[in-house]
Amino acid sequence: MKLILPRLTKGSRQPRVDQTDRCETQIVDVIEGVDYARPAPLPCPLCGQLNRPRRIALAMGMKIPVAECVSCRLAYQTPRPSSEAALAYARWRRKLAGEQPVDPADERPRALERLEYVRAVRPAAGRLLDFGGRSEVFVDACRAAGWEAVRIDYALEPGDHGARADDTTNPDTAECFDVITLWDVVGLLHDPPTILRSLRRRLSERGMLVIATANYESWQRVVEGRQWAAYGFEHQFYFSPASLEAMTWRAGFRHFALLDVEHSRPAFSQLLTRPPKAFGAWRAYLNARRAWPGHGDVAAMIGVARV
Ligand SMILES: [Zn+2]
Repeated sequence: MKLILPRLTKGSRQPRVDQTDRCETQIVDVIEGVDYARPAPLPCPLCGQLNRPRRIALAMGMKIPVAECVSCRLAYQTPRPSSEAALAYARWRRKLAGEQPVDPADERPRALERLEYVRAVRPAAGRLLDFGGRSEVFVDACRAAGWEAVRIDYALEPGDHGARADDTTNPDTAECFDVITLWDVVGLLHDPPTILRSLRRRLSERGMLVIATANYESWQRVVEGRQWAAYGFEHQFYFSPASLEAMTWRAGFRHFALLDVEHSRPAFSQLLTRPPKAFGAWRAYLNARRAWPGHGDVAAMIGVARV
């Protein structure tokens, strides 16, 4: 695996392709027939500027207002759902989905891939904390490879099972970790700098965070528009490499890089089966690579932050 640390180009222009509606001033979430008004809009957490959101339709009839801070290269939900709405939504979704246990066999290939990402930045086994992991599959894979690995089941919704939202100290020991992983978690945090700062205090002297999250500056996001898989009711932030780096700086980290992995391009086969769709995808791919050199073709970022 190559470990190339691309320079982030600052200020390249952001294609605005999502065909979404402008939001009205008052936004109300309707969950199981109950209205939940959203509180006041949030400013960009990096620069403090208020940005006007666009409304994006999700599954189950929900809509989320997402604003882009062009100068910070960050998208985020504003206003956020009220805590009552978040709780009602979590209960509703669980009720619809049923209590389906995770099948470890389905998760294992991804867990092994993630372990390889960790080994790319720290080949020797050490102590690892998986923050926010939803199952034991990844930490089990780490243990099998000689790591001492533990997991914090982070509470993503009020009243959810697991640790409290501000609790990064569980497991409650004084030990430090060589690697702390956040797989598809950072975008769900309500206050990433506070959580990341708290995690930084649990790192050993040469420790590091490994953060995986969807890349807002990717051709897939442009092509999929409002159907982009990363959009979600619980998802607070949609990062680019630049804004993810800025967020880690806020938390006291001073070195940040992306792993040179997870590149992808449109399928050639679609040129024969669905030419108009394929041409659109290739156009978006080429534009994204031009607009965002080094990461416009990366759907999921793997960022590494060190003190
Ligand atoms: Zn901003």
